[in-house]
Amino acid sequence: MSDNMNAEPTFTSLGLRPELLSTLSALGYEEPTPIQAAAIPVLVGGADLLGQAATGTGKTAAFALPILEVLDPQRRGNGPAALILVPTRELALQVSQAFHTYGREMGARLVAIYGGAPARHQIDALRRGVDVVVATPGRALDLIGRGALRLDGVRTVVLDEADEMLEMGFIEDIESILAITPKERQTVLFSATMPSRIDKLASRHLRNPERISIKATESAHDEVPRVRQTAYIVTRQNKSAALGRILDAEDPVASIVFCRTRGGVDDLTDLLTGRGYQAEALHGGLTQDQRDRVMGRLRAGTTELLVATDVAARGLDVDHLSHVVNYDLPMSPEAYVHRIGRVGRAGREGVALSLVEPRERRMLTSIEKLIHGRIPVEPVPTITDVRQMRLRRSREAIEALLDDPEAQDRLDTYREVLDDMLMSRDANEVALAAFALVHEEAQGGSPDEDERDLTASSAVDDQSRSTRGAKASGGSRGSDGPPRKRDKLEGPTSKLFISLGRKAGVTPGDLVGAITGEAGVKGRDIGAITVHESFSLVEVPEDKARKIAKALNHCTIRGRKAGVRLDRD
Ligand code: AMP
Repeated sequence: MSDNMNAEPTFTSLGLRPELLSTLSALGYEEPTPIQAAAIPVLVGGADLLGQAATGTGKTAAFALPILEVLDPQRRGNGPAALILVPTRELALQVSQAFHTYGREMGARLVAIYGGAPARHQIDALRRGVDVVVATPGRALDLIGRGALRLDGVRTVVLDEADEMLEMGFIEDIESILAITPKERQTVLFSATMPSRIDKLASRHLRNPERISIKATESAHDEVPRVRQTAYIVTRQNKSAALGRILDAEDPVASIVFCRTRGGVDDLTDLLTGRGYQAEALHGGLTQDQRDRVMGRLRAGTTELLVATDVAARGLDVDHLSHVVNYDLPMSPEAYVHRIGRVGRAGREGVALSLVEPRERRMLTSIEKLIHGRIPVEPVPTITDVRQMRLRRSREAIEALLDDPEAQDRLDTYREVLDDMLMSRDANEVALAAFALVHEEAQGGSPDEDERDLTASSAVDDQSRSTRGAKASGGSRGSDGPPRKRDKLEGPTSKLFISLGRKAGVTPGDLVGAITGEAGVKGRDIGAITVHESFSLVEVPEDKARKIAKALNHCTIRGRKAGVRLDRD
């Protein structure tokens, strides 16, 4: 598969209006996903659509953007122009949040309607006027019955996750709702699977639908390089902590870490830099000059982690990359194959590691279908794994030196000082102290004390996929906190006392995240972090300490309000 940059559609080439283009650019979306590239023109053109796509493919924007595109910003009608039916309250909130985000600049009005919450605000919101309603079928029917939801102005109906809705027994509700929408409406059906019941539903309610599927094409199979692949199931909140442990366990020479958006790349780069990694961002927002400099540092080996979007990494040709890390899963199986093609070149072993959110497991299955192989799901390394792995690396380094015949001269230069020490000290004790020094210098001493299990609980339930079960493997592995010794800050520093510690579940990553996010400073401005049982200490440049303390005093970390002050001792 070749990367033909010119043939890639862009949001601009899909003809979206300027307000949407600027919103997408602000969100850091660099290009449409395959389902978006295929669906947007069809839907803007007014045709019906039957789409096979699961969560993680960008399907929400695939129907939300065209709906917003054709929305008349001047319309003041009370009833919605678009109705999105979804199976669950969570999805209703998620989809309405997506509409809110994409439609903000246009001033689109939307309401989420779902059961399990009082109907009152939903009814009030509908009364104020609405452009898009995102609803679960039961509550939608209820509000239709109460005269609060009128569907006579609806132009587009979307049945999202239709297979789930059928599974949950919503078929009759859906039929009743469709029956009171205008006949000439546009109907869109998205489903992750296409059982015959979905086909029947589609043939009853869709008119000559365009069919779009992002099912993997078989042709890419031959191009799957020989790469050791592993997946970790982690919740979104635990992703950065899990990445820290995984990187530490793997100790990559040079890796590329993929994120979905430009903002995602910047945030993760800051976070990793804050944890002492040499990380650099690469995305479409950089000038050619900046890009060249980043690539130069990567080639020279001063950068160990390149954090990038798919677009920015296209055409990237770096020989010594050892690892590809999918911090965000790609949005199509083909993109996965592209990504992992960056390693495993020139006969060397490559490694591809993927962080998979529980709701994205279907994408993992699609990828496995494409590559005709299993991607083993492993538990996120535990802190014990990290310690053992680090010790093993120090041991291997020492043993390699002992076994290297060419290193004898080098060793001999130290013989005299050692012999002198051994006159008054025990050889074992000297060796121990030397080991400790080597280990602490190379591996950053003992890892952070955060003992949390970072594997998502849903991954533990599903033993059938995992090749090794989901309990700690007890082998090798990584850490949460500052995986390496952090770089020393230059210039005068101050210590901040933060009133939350291990007991509150706080990790160094949380503190870096809070400081970079709330106080707007870069990760590189954060020095040593120590998380104690009930408080934490963070070293920061003296001239920024007050600003950071002030910003943090207003924020919550792990759901708890932090008290922050300058530490005087
Ligand atoms: P969905 O499959 O609709 O649940 O979307 C999955 C995630 O991808 C959401 O977090 C979206 O914000 C994000 N997303 C959607 N389209 C794009 C895009 N073109 N580029 C980057 N991220 C996107």
